[in-house]
Amino acid sequence: MSSTYAIAIRDFTKRYGSFEAVSSLTLEVEPGSICGLLGPNGSGKTTTFKCLLNLARPTSGTMQVEGAPVQPATFEELAYVPERSALYEWLTLADHLEFNRRSYRKYDAKRADELVNLFRLERKKKVGKLSKGQQTAVALILAFSIQPRILVLDEPASGLDPVFQRVVLDLIIEAAAGGATILFSSHQIGQVERAADRVAILKNGRLIVDGTVDSLKGSEKVVEAIFDQAVPEVDGLTSDARIRRVERSGRILRAYVKEDSDGIARRLSEYSPKNVAVMDLNLEDIFINAVGGETALPQGDR
Ligand code: ATP
Repeated sequence: MSSTYAIAIRDFTKRYGSFEAVSSLTLEVEPGSICGLLGPNGSGKTTTFKCLLNLARPTSGTMQVEGAPVQPATFEELAYVPERSALYEWLTLADHLEFNRRSYRKYDAKRADELVNLFRLERKKKVGKLSKGQQTAVALILAFSIQPRILVLDEPASGLDPVFQRVVLDLIIEAAAGGATILFSSHQIGQVERAADRVAILKNGRLIVDGTVDSLKGSEKVVEAIFDQAVPEVDGLTSDARIRRVERSGRILRAYVKEDSDGIARRLSEYSPKNVAVMDLNLEDIFINAVGGETALPQGDR
C-alpha cells in the first residue's frame, strides 16, 4: 500500500545487543501536521529519529518518508536537527549558510537573514565559540532556511532561553501552517501542548499514548476538591473503577477520572469541600498518568 503519510514508522524495533531500546513502534504522521514525541530520558526518542533518518539501522520494521525509505535525495525536503550539535565548530555561521546555499535548491537567503536577526546571532563568529543555545539556534536557522517539507527536530528548544523557546515554537507552527510536517521531541510539555496537533508518548521503548492533543485532553477529567481543613478520608475512592488515581496535596484532593466525573464530583461534595471543580486534563497530567502516575500516588491511596 502506498503511504499518504509524510512519515510512516511501522512495527519498528531497535535492539542494541540484547537490550531493546524501541519495541514494535508504529507512528504515522499526516502531512502538514505537528507530532510531538514525548517520553522520559532513555525511552527511545533519539533512537527512533536516528533510524528514521537512516543514521542507524532498525533491527526490524519499516521507516518511510513521503512513501519511501530515506535516501540522499530525501534530504532536499527533510531537515533534521539532532539532539547534539552536528555543526562544524571551526566554521562560522556565514560559512554554514554558504554551505546551505550551495547544497539546497530551495535555500531562501532572505529567510535565513530574518532568522539570523531573530536569534540575534553574529555571522562571523566560529560556531565552536557560540553558547550551547546559540549553536541550537544555528542548527534551527539552517533547518528552516531550506524550506523543507519535513522537519525532524530532536529537542529543538534545548538550551534556549524562554524567549527563544517561544520563537522556536512559532517557527514550528508557522512551518506547519505553510504545509510542512514536523516531528519533534521535547521535555517541555507545555511547548508540545501549545504546538502539537498530535502527541505520542514512549515509555521504555513502547508507545503508550498516541492521539490528538484535544482528544487526549477531553478523554479524561480531573475532579478537584478544596477543603477548609485537611483532606478527609473518602471511603473506597481509590478502589473506585471510574478513578485512575488520586492525589492529595495539603487541602486539595485531585481525582483523575476515567468516566462519570460529575458522579465523582457529587460524591466528593458530600464531604463539604469549599469548592469542587471538574476540569480537563492538561498534557502534563496525561504524561504523568501515563509514565509516572504510580510513583505519584501517596502511600495511603495505594
Ligand atoms: P533522552 O530524553 O534522554 O534524550 P531518548 O528517549 O532520546 O532519551 P535514546 O537516546 O533513544 O532515548 O535511548 C534509548 C535507550 O537506548 C537508552 O537506554 C540508551 O541507553 C540506549 N542506547 C542508545 N544508543 C545506544 C547505543 N549506541 N548502544 C547501546 N545502547 C544505546
